Amino acid sequence: MKVGIIGSGIGALASAIELRKLGLEVSVFEANAQIGGKIVEQHLGAYRFDMGPSVFTEPELMQGLLRGLDPSANFRYHQLSESCRYFFNDGQHLTIPFGKEQVAQTLHQTFGENKHTTLKYLQRIEKNYRAIYPVFIAVSLHRFKHFFQILLLKALARLFKYGLHQTMHAQNRNTFKNPKTQQIFDRMATYNGSSPYLAPAMLNIISQLEFNEGPAMPVGGMAQITKQAYQLAAQHGVEFYTNERVTAIQHRNQRIVGLQTTKSNYHFDIVVSNMDIHYTYEKLLTQIKAPAFLLKQEKSSSAVVFYWGINQSFDQLGVHNIFFADDYRAEFAAIFETKMLYHDPTIYVHISSKVESTDAPAGKENWFVMVNAPINAGQNWDQEIKKLRQRILEKLSKALQTAIEPLIEVEQINEPRLIEKNYSGKQGSIYGNASNNAFAAFLRHPNFSKQLKGLYFAGVTVHPGGGIPLAINSAKIVARCVQEDYPSLRK
Ligand SMILES: Cc1cc2nc3c(=O)[nH]c(=O)nc-3n(C[C@H](O)[C@H](O)[C@H](O)COP(=O)(O)OP(=O)(O)OC[C@H]3O[C@@H](n4cnc5c(N)ncnc54)[C@H](O)[C@@H]3O)c2cc1C
Repeated sequence: MKVGIIGSGIGALASAIELRKLGLEVSVFEANAQIGGKIVEQHLGAYRFDMGPSVFTEPELMQGLLRGLDPSANFRYHQLSESCRYFFNDGQHLTIPFGKEQVAQTLHQTFGENKHTTLKYLQRIEKNYRAIYPVFIAVSLHRFKHFFQILLLKALARLFKYGLHQTMHAQNRNTFKNPKTQQIFDRMATYNGSSPYLAPAMLNIISQLEFNEGPAMPVGGMAQITKQAYQLAAQHGVEFYTNERVTAIQHRNQRIVGLQTTKSNYHFDIVVSNMDIHYTYEKLLTQIKAPAFLLKQEKSSSAVVFYWGINQSFDQLGVHNIFFADDYRAEFAAIFETKMLYHDPTIYVHISSKVESTDAPAGKENWFVMVNAPINAGQNWDQEIKKLRQRILEKLSKALQTAIEPLIEVEQINEPRLIEKNYSGKQGSIYGNASNNAFAAFLRHPNFSKQLKGLYFAGVTVHPGGGIPLAINSAKIVARCVQEDYPSLRK
């Protein structure tokens, strides 16, 4: 049995590994020159930058993925000593550690939050996370035998603890008295490109990874995630084709028969698409009726990123830093309603050279400066980004009491139009659909096609959703579905 995979993001690489494990012949086609999708690196002068993701959680998932093919594989990572540093416009700032006790203590000291309340909240988050994970994230919601299992009863027994009737913000507002604490917890909605004022409170489980477990950082940087997955897959016989865009998924009599690419036609029995689900239907499956209702859901946010080599080191900054907007609600309204960049943006500054010293020359730092942005709806991006750059420089210079612009030695910019062009993200959205309504989890595309036997989907635009851990889970679900659909593969 031959498998063709479209794209080489982490969802694709994880699928390649999982399916190779089943003994299938696997080929991966990537439109770009580099393997890795959004998890790639670039060197600008003497600086190294991770171009996409910077927050790495659940490292055991990567370990497990690689060890599935090679039990001696060891994915090395730094466990960071803090989760994030937060800066507010009024000059107040704090470092949030990780671990329930430490977070509760810090929020008590800085914002006067009741320690017991914070502890209770974080404990509930952990229980919700552990109940929801095996029945909503690790399995398909669209296959009866995945979904209906004994653990579902356990998850359902906690139904009233998820705050189904509330938004993330409403739950945080009802829990914490200080608006700044609320803002810190609300920020977790951005981890899958959503708004805390619309996303259901259930998504507050993201706090489990950020505050209870704490973020990690791969040794060598984020790009190691896809580099190591690629190397291992290639060593075990997966074939890779770069600079080769898939132009059509070929099918006959409701079965997959192959792929057409910019270079050739290939026969495949199974195809896994890691391309944004919207474009998979629009561009590769033109003769198939697309599931319009799922695909017309509101899109997740996009981003504008400035990669700056900074000729100075800042002790007040850590690996992850947030400079908050004063009016968070107005910022999300700009992103999702008026679809404009907000005049006082929340700025995320990631500095990998804080732990990977070779990422920048001595005494200098590699800044990844990101602002959440609306999807590309034809805005005047050149003008908008020019204004944004100025606002960011003003805000960071004020907060750090140092003029930042003269320190920039190298610069590159990523933005919604490029995310759309370079990675085929629908309108530059990063995670496909947003989770801006209570049913969003059920309105993501399944990991398999209901119309074509042999067609599967992996990556952050399908179930279970946004982020590296979920993309790995999508690949595991694909492998399970393939085993179910082709009984001869069952071990
Ligand atoms: C700026 C930024 C910051 C982010 N930060 C984080 C973060 O901190 N943590 C996190 O977990 N996630 C983050 N993300 C999201 C993250 O990128 C995703 O979680 C993950 O990398 C997406 O993986 P994926 O498998 O869906 O595929 P992608 O990485 O989207 O890769 C899809 C690949 O398919 C290729 N492709 C598409 N169509 C075709 C075709 N027809 N033929 C051949 N190839 C094709 C594309 O070229 C691309 O390489 C961020 C994303 C961006 C852009």
